[in-house]
Amino acid sequence: MPETPERNAIEVRGVNKVFGFGPDKVIALDDVHVAIRENEFFTLLGPSGCGKTTLLRLIAGFDFPTDGEILLHGQDIAPLPPHKRPVNTVFQSYALFPHLTVAKNISFGLEMLGRPKDEVDARVDEMLKLVRMEELRNRSTAQISGGQQQRVALARALAPQPKVLLLDEPLSALDYKLRKEMQIELKRLQHETGITFIFVTHDQEEALTMSDRIAVMSAGNILQIGSPEEIYDRPAVRFVADFIGETNFLEGSIEERAAGGARVRISSGAVIDASVAEGFQPSGRVTVVVRPEHARLSVEGGQLAGRLSNIVYFGTDTHFHVELDGGGEFIVRRQNARDDRGTARIGDPVSIVIGAGAAQVLRD
Ligand code: ATP
Repeated sequence: MPETPERNAIEVRGVNKVFGFGPDKVIALDDVHVAIRENEFFTLLGPSGCGKTTLLRLIAGFDFPTDGEILLHGQDIAPLPPHKRPVNTVFQSYALFPHLTVAKNISFGLEMLGRPKDEVDARVDEMLKLVRMEELRNRSTAQISGGQQQRVALARALAPQPKVLLLDEPLSALDYKLRKEMQIELKRLQHETGITFIFVTHDQEEALTMSDRIAVMSAGNILQIGSPEEIYDRPAVRFVADFIGETNFLEGSIEERAAGGARVRISSGAVIDASVAEGFQPSGRVTVVVRPEHARLSVEGGQLAGRLSNIVYFGTDTHFHVELDGGGEFIVRRQNARDDRGTARIGDPVSIVIGAGAAQVLRD
């Protein structure tokens, strides 16, 4: 059979996971379908309790699905215990051996697998180089920083050359600056090793900056799968729009359908052109979403009118909060130019211009 250019590393088909019985029953995963490609940085993103860790544990083999199947390169992996799966996991807690050196932590798993000594030594050297920890190879892991421990945990997990690396909130214990550094580091490691990474986080910014594709989860369901741009610019449902970044919601009704879009009369009375996701046929009352950076303030002539209720400076940009005349709030984000603070003041009457192509009709 000819090779397809993009093969699936992992395919999750109709997976359910139920914990407990009767009134204590929890549906942690509800008919989940997802295909994760080879050599992809794939992120499971969602709030606490949505089922991210459960899905990762099923892929790793630490637990079994109630229903459904998980394929690795097209093969059902149900019969394989965790240590027989070409899958490795990096946990939030790192789980290093504190009494062993950095190098020993990395070699331990390889020795357990019975790999010959010279192969183990070569692999440890290679891994130390990959995570830039050669200098600290003989240091005990109890005597290195959190960021360094994170690197050792990654080196240890990558050492046996897994086909898939599972990462369960691996950066959440690090402070902000180190976390940003490790985000770039992780992306580099994924790129250099070509291993499929499945990364779990509840941090939307982290997901947007690191991933090739993201699956947004809520209450055991995957609501949308797409590139960071698709998820951010074209959220399919309200939950995704709300969870990923700041968003304005406007209520309205469909005036007219057009190719790929609709004209929507919003409550201010203005009619705006909005895009509509493929395959979706909205009618009647709808919610329209507009990102704050896709609208601008004007003295007059916009589709919405109101009064400035707050101005929040963020360094790179400023957020203008507008109390709309018809009720509700709308946020406009403006990128700051050097030495230009603008002249708008809290209390000023303002008009809001929604950019062309900025509005989108959501599914509920
Ligand atoms: P977090 O970000 O807080 O880790 P999560 O998205 O990873 O959350 P899961 O840990 O997968 O969520 O949990 C999904 C749901 O399943 C939750 O309601 C959780 O309480 C429940 N759950 C997970 N493991 C078990 C278990 N062993 N027994 C009973 N319920 C469980």
